[in-house]
Parts: sequence; C-alpha cells; structure tokens
Amino acid sequence: MTETTTESTETTKTQAPLADIGVTGLATMGRNLARNLARNGHVVAVHNRTQARTDALIAEHGSEGTFVPTSSLRELAAVLKRPRTVIVMVQAGAPTDEVLDQLAEVLEPGDIVVDGGNAHFIDTRRRESTLRERGIHFVGVGISGGEEGALNGPSIMPGGTPEAYQTLGPILESIAAKVDGTPCCTHVGPDGAGHFVKMVHNGIEYADMQLIAESYDLLRTVLGKTPAELAEIFRGWNEGDLESFLIEITAEVLATKDPRGDQPLVDVILDQAEQKGTGRWTVQIALDLGSPVSGIAEAVFARSLSAHAAQRAAARELLAGPTEAVSIDDPDTFVGDVRRALYASKVVAYAQGFDMIRAGSQLYDWNIDLGKIATIWRGGCIIRARFLDRIREAYEKRPDLPSLMVDPYFAKAVSEGQASWRRVVSVAAAAGVPVPGFSATLAFYDGLRRDRLPAALIQGMRDLFGAHTYRRIDADGTFHLDWSGDRSEREA
Ligand code: NDP
Repeated sequence: MTETTTESTETTKTQAPLADIGVTGLATMGRNLARNLARNGHVVAVHNRTQARTDALIAEHGSEGTFVPTSSLRELAAVLKRPRTVIVMVQAGAPTDEVLDQLAEVLEPGDIVVDGGNAHFIDTRRRESTLRERGIHFVGVGISGGEEGALNGPSIMPGGTPEAYQTLGPILESIAAKVDGTPCCTHVGPDGAGHFVKMVHNGIEYADMQLIAESYDLLRTVLGKTPAELAEIFRGWNEGDLESFLIEITAEVLATKDPRGDQPLVDVILDQAEQKGTGRWTVQIALDLGSPVSGIAEAVFARSLSAHAAQRAAARELLAGPTEAVSIDDPDTFVGDVRRALYASKVVAYAQGFDMIRAGSQLYDWNIDLGKIATIWRGGCIIRARFLDRIREAYEKRPDLPSLMVDPYFAKAVSEGQASWRRVVSVAAAAGVPVPGFSATLAFYDGLRRDRLPAALIQGMRDLFGAHTYRRIDADGTFHLDWSGDRSEREA
C-alpha cells in the first residue's frame, strides 16, 4: 500500500520535534507496546499502514499518556526527537523488510530502528549490516510475553550495538517486567544476539509445554484422574520448585469447562498442536551448531506428529498397543514420581537451551552473559519461573559452567529425581503413553553421565566402511585399521 504523505507532512513541517519514540505497526503487539511506553511517561509517536488502527488507538486509549498520531513514516520521522528511535512492530518476514526500506528513506545517520517482531536472527544480522552502511543503528529485539506482556511488562532481549543500547536501553527497561526491582531487559549482545536468544527462549517454551502435556497425559491415562482433579494437582505443583506461568495456566485450562456444554474444555479441543516456526528454527540452528537440544526437538516433532491426522487415523486402526493394563499400587507416589520427572526433564531442556546460547555466542562472537539471560527470563515472558533464579545463581557463581547439569544445585536435584524419572518412563512405555520429552531428556542425562559411550563402536564402523579413522584412549593421533587386509593398524 502506498502512503499519502503530502498533506500530513505539510502540517508537521512547522512543528518542533516532540516525541521520544515512534512505533509503527499497531496491531496487537505494537498497540500494546505503544500504550506501555505512553503509560511510562514517554511521548509516543504512532503510525500504522492502515490509518484506522492509529485512529482506534487514539480514540480508545489516547488518555493513557501522550501520543502523537501520524499518518506516514515521513511524518513519524518528522515528529521524533533526534537521534530518532522507531520501533517496528509489523508482520515478520517480507513486510518488515518493506517497512525498513521505507524507514531508511526518511531517517538519518545516528537514528535507531528497532525490530520488535519475531524475526529470524539471520535476517536481523543481514538487516543490521545493510542499515549500518547507511549509518543507521538497527536493533533486533526479542519480546516475549504476548499481548498481555507487551502492555504490562514483557521480557525484552535487545541485540544491536552498545551505543544504540545507551539510548534505547533506559526506554526499554522502563517498560519491561520487573522482578525484585530488576528490569527483565538487558543488552544481550551485538547484531542478531537478541533475536537468537528469543528464538531459543521459544524453543525452551516448546519443551516445557510438551513436558507438562506428557505429565498430564500420564496421570490421566494411567491413574484415570479427571481434568478437574489434575487442575488441583498442577495447582499444588505451582507452590513448589515447579512454580511457573506455564504450570499456573495448565491448572487454569484443565479447570475450565466447555462454554458450549458441561465437558472439560480440554476434551473438546482438537488434539493437533500448531506452531509458528520459532521452535523449528531453534532445532534447525541447533543442528548447524552441533548443539544437542533433544528436549526441544522432541517437542517440535511431537507437535508435527499431532498434526498428521490422516496417518494417525490409519495407525489407530492397525497398530497394537499394550495388551496388559498397568497397575499402580500407590497413586500418590506415582503423582510424586511424575512431578520429580517433570522437574528433572525441565532442568535438562533448559540446560540444553543455555548450552545452545553459549554455542551461538561463541560462533558469532556475541559474548552473551548466560546469568543475565536467566535474570531477564524471570518475569514477563512465557517461561517465567521460580527456578530461573537458580539458573541465574548458577551462572553468577561460575560463568564458565560447562553445563547447568553440573551446577551443584541442579546436579543434586536431577540425581535425586532420577529414580522417579526412570519409573515414570518405564510406566509410560508399559502403558503405551508417548513421552518423547521425558525419554529424550533422560537419555541425554544418561548420555552425559556415562563413563563410556557406544560412540566407540560407531567410530569403529566408520573406519571400516569409510576409512574415517579413529582415536585411541591410550595414544595420541588418529588411526586406521587395514580392515580388508591383515588388520594391522597404521597412523593416519
Ligand atoms: P501481525 O504480525 O499480525 O502484523 C500486523 C501488523 O503488520 C499490522 O500493523 C499491519 O498493518 C502490519 N503490516 C503487515 N504488512 C505490512 C506491510 N507490508 N507494510 C506495513 N505494515 C504492514 O501483528 P502482531 O501485533 O501480532 O505482531 C507484530 C510482531 O510481533 C510480529 O513480528 C510477531 O511475530 C511479533 N510478536 C507477536 C507476539 C504475539 O503474541 N502476537 C508475541 C511476540 C512477538 P495493517 O494494519 O495496515 O494491516
């Protein structure tokens, strides 16, 4: 859509610049972010491609602070204090590029453009480099917390230059969620670091939700608990180590009745989970980084499997399940086992996510402080949880921690939960309840702690069929065996 700028530009030419910050894109997120900024005392210039959204914002919420409505990007640029700061909250992908091209035409060197959408960090790196050539600071900012967070305090993960953060940081920190007085916003690192961390945040969110869903499925299938009973169990879990936004909303969903009838709502919702792509991106990038995020990957695949309705219908007819029912002697003990398994699996999924952030940070030279990431995820975002404080403490104590799993607190917590975890995975297998998240994270735990792994055999096979060589435990160097000859060994 082309902009009609003439009239509005004329009217603003004579005005002194007055707005602290601009927001373009006033759908759900942009509108709420603009309101949050205005409520925190910033003078906010607002713009949207379709004028009706701008008018609606002013009509419905204009009294919440000082807004400056504008009807073109040129006008938006004209009413901003210099250096200008513009937050772009439009649809991710090509629309963002379109808007950035238009903004580049009306901004000047030294101005700051913020992309608060869910961009892929590779796109953010490209955009940052393009705009840098024009002297414009481009800051990719991950924002989590959905509609409600944008309005009342999200968790904010900004990338970009430290110089841009000097101007932008105080504004973003003023609108972020606060935990113990600390804003859930920090300068994550240069160029795409913010969007990278947001991507991994979303990957962890997938894993966390999958593990909760598996706990629900097990307790419901094996113990025959009703959704209302399960809501009570999850409410109880929210009082302890598992206290988190996702456990809280699990209880709420399970306690809710179908507004069209008397059944539990969860029973009338189609069992095919959707995804917008950030979980998939996390796994794709993790593969490139060689970062084993198996908990996240299983969560993404579980959503994909759920969506294969035709395959599931065909399999339901033909594939046999367990022939014997599983009996649980003490239901309360089993509930406790599932709770401990959930906590242990969750620790692994988060440990994998933090390992991935470290791997990305090393590859792109971002110098990300993992303790600060845990700090800004404690509030505002979807994975906000009590135990992020523990993660913060672990990285503050030891910034070079090789894995969260070996921090004394987490090592103890996971080791203490392992007996329950193993019982839960065996009961699930016997009962035919799929628990890909629990199983994959337990396998990761065992893989990490094993003295010897069967990777030795894999290396032997690789050398046999492809002369890929192997290393020895008792000598330096790489070796090849003459498999088809006399089986002598030579140094490669
Ligand atoms: P949408 O992703 O639905 O995007 C709609 C907005 O983009 C409208 O303002 C629309 O303008 C504008 N737009 C689309 N195409 C263009 C274009 N070619 N030129 C100019 N403007 C265009 O909005 P949301 O508020 O849901 O999300 C905004 C961003 O925030 C997205 O990147 C999203 O992924 C991200 N995000 C969303 C979250 C959420 O919970 N919704 C959470 C965190 C991030 P118009 O009114 O004229 O159509």
